[in-house]
Amino acid sequence: MKAQLTFLGTGTSQGVPIIGCTCAVCRSRDERDKRFRSSALVRYGGMTILVDAGPDFRSQMLRAGVGHLDAILLTHNHKDHTGGLDDVRSLNYIDRKAVEIYCEAPVLDTLRREYAYAFERVKYPGAPEWNVHLIDEKPFTVRSNEGYVLEWVHDVGYRYVPVEGPVPESKSVEIIPIRGWHGTMPVLGFRFGNIAYITDMSRLEDDQLDKLKGLDHVTLNTVSYHPHHSHFSLDEALALAGRIGARHTWLTHLSHTFPVYAQFCDELATRCAQLGLGSTVLPAYDGLVIA
Ligand SMILES: [Zn+2]
Ligand SMILES: [Zn+2]
Ligand SMILES: [Zn+2]
Repeated sequence: MKAQLTFLGTGTSQGVPIIGCTCAVCRSRDERDKRFRSSALVRYGGMTILVDAGPDFRSQMLRAGVGHLDAILLTHNHKDHTGGLDDVRSLNYIDRKAVEIYCEAPVLDTLRREYAYAFERVKYPGAPEWNVHLIDEKPFTVRSNEGYVLEWVHDVGYRYVPVEGPVPESKSVEIIPIRGWHGTMPVLGFRFGNIAYITDMSRLEDDQLDKLKGLDHVTLNTVSYHPHHSHFSLDEALALAGRIGARHTWLTHLSHTFPVYAQFCDELATRCAQLGLGSTVLPAYDGLVIA
């Protein structure tokens, strides 16, 4: 089964341009140099799945015209990947759905701390409605929740009410998590059929490569030419692209330390030719769709 992935954000934790920076990349007029925080929208098996909901979540949903999500998968707990989760309130209200969040236990611990109001037994009316599903390194199934809708009760909050009439059949897809390391922090990447989305890793164990065979597309994160404590350097990302051997590799979580888009493409073409990489490697940009 084929997936389609739209890059909603391809920037590092501060985004590009960076507030106050006057470098050539931050001043670039090329739209491809304007990067929201990293996030991707995946259409797979008839479902709409978001990977990560950082501080630009609201703008990203508006720009992509998204009014419904079947699931949000979280790669890890950093704010540039979770800072927009309060804004699912619009989907709760308009779409009448709680948001189904899939994450690992340490990520849930952080959400409980940083969004304590979303977990209170009696919530402030209008607090976000989340259903959190715990996942680990094992393949998991995402199911669309068709059985109920949210009903807003003024001054009280949401009630879950069964759908009236025949309930549409739930859709479901299996997703394969990829275990990686972000410095010392465990993070997950995700494989959706022919596309794998990997971000915020500085290390991927060899035993994960089996899960990445036969891909059309893979995304890999890099923030710098130089070694970094929690992200792949460009050289590390290129080496890994060669080992994974997807037809196309897309670089994401990019910072302003790389050249402007067109120049970076030329540079990567030269590097890939020198290295004899079988995969074409290009920088992703916000709005790019791959399938
Ligand atoms: Zn990040
Ligand atoms: Zn800059
Ligand atoms: Zn991170």
